[in-house]
Amino acid sequence: MSPIVLLSILHLLFLSCVTKDESMNLHEYQGKEILNSFGVDIQRGIVAQTSEEAVAAAKKLTEETGTSWHVIKAQVHAGGRGKGGGVKLAKSLEDVARISGEIIGMQLITPQTSAEGKTVHQVLVAEDVYYPGASEPQEFYISVLLNRATGRNMIMYSTEGGMDIETVAEQTPELIFTEEIDPAVGLQGFQARKIAFNLGLSGQAFKQMTKFVAALYQAYVGSDASLFEINPVLKTSDDRVIAVDAKVTLDDNALFRHKDYEALRDIREENPVEVEAKAVGLNYVDLDGNVGCMVNGAGLAMATMDLIKQAGGEPANFLDVGGTADAERVETAFNLILKDPNVKAILVNIFGGIVRCDRVAQGIVDAYKNMGTIEVPIIVRLQGTNADIAKKLIDESGLDVHSAIEFQEAADKVQAVLA
Ligand code: GDP
Ligand code: MN
Repeated sequence: MSPIVLLSILHLLFLSCVTKDESMNLHEYQGKEILNSFGVDIQRGIVAQTSEEAVAAAKKLTEETGTSWHVIKAQVHAGGRGKGGGVKLAKSLEDVARISGEIIGMQLITPQTSAEGKTVHQVLVAEDVYYPGASEPQEFYISVLLNRATGRNMIMYSTEGGMDIETVAEQTPELIFTEEIDPAVGLQGFQARKIAFNLGLSGQAFKQMTKFVAALYQAYVGSDASLFEINPVLKTSDDRVIAVDAKVTLDDNALFRHKDYEALRDIREENPVEVEAKAVGLNYVDLDGNVGCMVNGAGLAMATMDLIKQAGGEPANFLDVGGTADAERVETAFNLILKDPNVKAILVNIFGGIVRCDRVAQGIVDAYKNMGTIEVPIIVRLQGTNADIAKKLIDESGLDVHSAIEFQEAADKVQAVLA
């Protein structure tokens, strides 16, 4: 596979993780439960909220597995936890108590979190599966995802497990393989065998790997996932093949078929403003910039973000208020936008097709008055039905609101207030 094709696939993998609208990310322990329910062999573990629970979990695991060593793993929606100190080996119950006490409540910073990191609310206490043996354990990378270019599911795999797949793609792209699955027939036996072969396995481990791949693919299809990334898949010294990590993204649009998965949502992991917006039916995505935007229609919202960039600003959010931009909705939207301390100006860009511009303008004026003081300047562009009446309403309101009718005019005004 050429490096360019590979990088475009990796870009898709990245996108599938950040497009929050259509996906629901799971914790490692939840992903492993799904894997287990489809017959995939996993590193066993029990989730714990306190260090007391962690010790009880470790005792129970020792009874079940016979191993007295455990790994304590922070459960947050971000990879690279090991690098950030969120995955640690405990060789005794005292270690379990101490390490879990340290990890629960910590701000875990990994290459995949923001600079502030993520608060750890729970840990997975798992059996240590890297036990020494005659031969060294081996780590692989296996993921299942949709290749949007071909419209087919794809298994991506590599002998270089345990490290970032992005790094492998940059340094040794020849060590990443892909296998596309024909949707009409599903994963074929020969494909699973080819994967086990390319991973350099033989004998019992080869057999275990073909079983692992087949069950993993079943789990991906059966749970309507958009991503299953297992890194590492471990071949133990006694030739078991098990999932040590699990990064799972489910397709939101298929959740109605899996009522039991709805309970797996952990809103503590989601952006609080986005959660609040969703609850009131607004489509809000937080971004890093300084210009808040309130727009009706996703297409116009994208165009508005371009406009802001052209004017030298960066959008602070994507916000589609939809068809009914009445005063209450406008006020809710202003409130959401103003929760972001980086916002230096707000651009309202509404096209009045079904909704009349003068009603929206009245909504903005009412909302503004209701909210008392809004510290940042607001630029309002209303275009469509009764746009002229709307402009008059805004201009005569006496508020720090700048009206515009043309797109360019709005851009110039954004530029002027940012300067
Ligand atoms: P990530 O850093 O978020 O990807 O978390 P992982 O679940 O992949 O764990 C990180 C690393 O911890 C793995 O690559 C392993 O090297 C190590 N690890 C995980 N489980 C065990 C275990 O049972 N024993 C030991 N010794 N190391 C483990
Ligand atoms: Mn991992």
